[in-house]
Amino acid sequence: CGVFGIYSPRPLNVAWLSYLGMFALQHRGQEAAGMCVSNGEDFLVEKDLGLVTQVFDETRLQKMNLDGANIAIGHVRYSTTGSNLRFNAQPLTVRSNKGILGIAHNGNFVNAREIRQLMLNEGVIFQTTNDTEVMINRIAKYANLDLVDATARVMQEMRGGFAVVIMNRKMLIGLRDPNGVRPLCIGQREDGAYVFASETVALYAVNATFIRDVKPGELVWADENGLHSLEVIPSVPTPCAFEWIYFARADASVDGVSTHEARIRMGQELAKEQPVEADIVVPVPDSGIGAAIGYSRESGIPFDYGLYKNPYAGRSFIAPTQEARELKVKMKLSPTAAVKGKRVVLIDDSIVRGTTSRQIVQLLRDAGATEVHFRVSSPPITHPCYYGIDTAARKELVASTHTVEEIRQMIGADTLAFISEDGIKSAVSGPGLCLACFNGKYPAGVPLENDVNKHA
Ligand code: 5GP
Ligand code: SF4
Ligand code: MG
Repeated sequence: CGVFGIYSPRPLNVAWLSYLGMFALQHRGQEAAGMCVSNGEDFLVEKDLGLVTQVFDETRLQKMNLDGANIAIGHVRYSTTGSNLRFNAQPLTVRSNKGILGIAHNGNFVNAREIRQLMLNEGVIFQTTNDTEVMINRIAKYANLDLVDATARVMQEMRGGFAVVIMNRKMLIGLRDPNGVRPLCIGQREDGAYVFASETVALYAVNATFIRDVKPGELVWADENGLHSLEVIPSVPTPCAFEWIYFARADASVDGVSTHEARIRMGQELAKEQPVEADIVVPVPDSGIGAAIGYSRESGIPFDYGLYKNPYAGRSFIAPTQEARELKVKMKLSPTAAVKGKRVVLIDDSIVRGTTSRQIVQLLRDAGATEVHFRVSSPPITHPCYYGIDTAARKELVASTHTVEEIRQMIGADTLAFISEDGIKSAVSGPGLCLACFNGKYPAGVPLENDVNKHA
């Protein structure tokens, strides 16, 4: 998911700016979009299934442009299949002892189900199956603390990987889990408005200048007195490696490290670890481009444009038959003349189920590639993510049940190789990383019942 929040000391069209910020974060979730806006008195929320541009057409955006508005939060949702229900769209709004609250989050609380059960036992009722509701209910439970202190208390109770924005009529809050698994950054516009966002690309989209990343375990808030911070939990940074591998946009910088440059270094590491003789290096667009540039630079094998990606190919839909699934890949990708008669090094960021990879290898062979050497800029994904990235249920992860050689045979490549964990670490060269989906070492804990289908 992607989150966005804006607080302006003066009236500003915060609905429009949130729309732009959410649009810049669209790659983080295409299933639903929503926002809350306040002018200090009124409080509006609109959310629905669909892309940002579908949910917020002109009429709806106009409606959100409250007179005198100065605070807003926005959310783009990404979730596992089956939970794309409208009532689970965010932001969630509630009326509480702290006034009306809007909340949106990216990530997962691994202990939300336990806390939910405890609260159910105490007679608390829930309207959604969304973990956000658990957090907001806990905040309301600290009835004699103010919103900031109550939120700080709840931050200490929740475990997992999460970045959250919360607003009431007077302030905007942002917080990041103690491991900093999920990203969140702060920016400011020339007119003084503060912006909190999942990625720097959303700051750029609304003319805000990057100030800094929120620290792991930190709570920040903006109100009429400016920007404030509370370091709630001592920080042990283990940000998600997948943000640099695949998830964050190529023009983003996460915790001070450019994703594009990290991807290039992953490609260079991959070329050092897994060299091969070939004529051209071809990326699977768009996610394999950075690593393919790096692989080409390091190996000296020319980079070429071997796969065309149809820019109008939207979200993939669930295709009912085998032919429909294959045509779905063709809708998005087709080979160019570059691959004919060539030995190709094909670069992608990850293999999850292996199904699209197999079809891409076949596309290249049909187009006359003489050899296809598949190189992947992440290690084999063997474990599910409990911190908000949908790397699929464990049984669907091809690398959790197959060896590299078996996967090679399945996808029909001449050779197949993955980057090592050390390769990823040196490419990102930031603080410690979460690499749990590759090695099963979960830095922020796992759910009591490892029900991999219930996370979102
Ligand atoms: P596979 O061959 O495993 O079916 O597909 C691999 C492709 O899935 C890669 O190109 C990779 O960029 C993409 N991918 C990896 N993680 C995700 C994800 O979380 N969501 C989506 N939509 N694609 C992903
Ligand atoms: Fe990221 Fe993988 Fe850790 Fe999930 S398990 S937070 S995808 S590195
Ligand atoms: Mg891809």
